[in-house]
Amino acid sequence: MHDEAIPYEEMAQEAISMGDTSGDAQMLLKAIEEDRIEEKARFWRNQGLCQYCGGSFTGIFSKKCSSCGRPKDY
Ligand SMILES: [Zn+2]
Repeated sequence: MHDEAIPYEEMAQEAISMGDTSGDAQMLLKAIEEDRIEEKARFWRNQGLCQYCGGSFTGIFSKKCSSCGRPKDY
């Protein structure tokens, strides 16, 4: 028995691998993943980069990502 803190992500993955079908673990993993995406998007917006892929924008009047082609929408 060890009292090391287990991250939620690991707990959820373990629950799924043990055959958890309640959907709670899947929901938790999805929430963690969404948090991560939102955090990354926020960082990229702060850097003035594409919030979807971190690419740089091209164009003067309508800025578009040079990497994924999405318009600058923030
Ligand atoms: Zn992009």
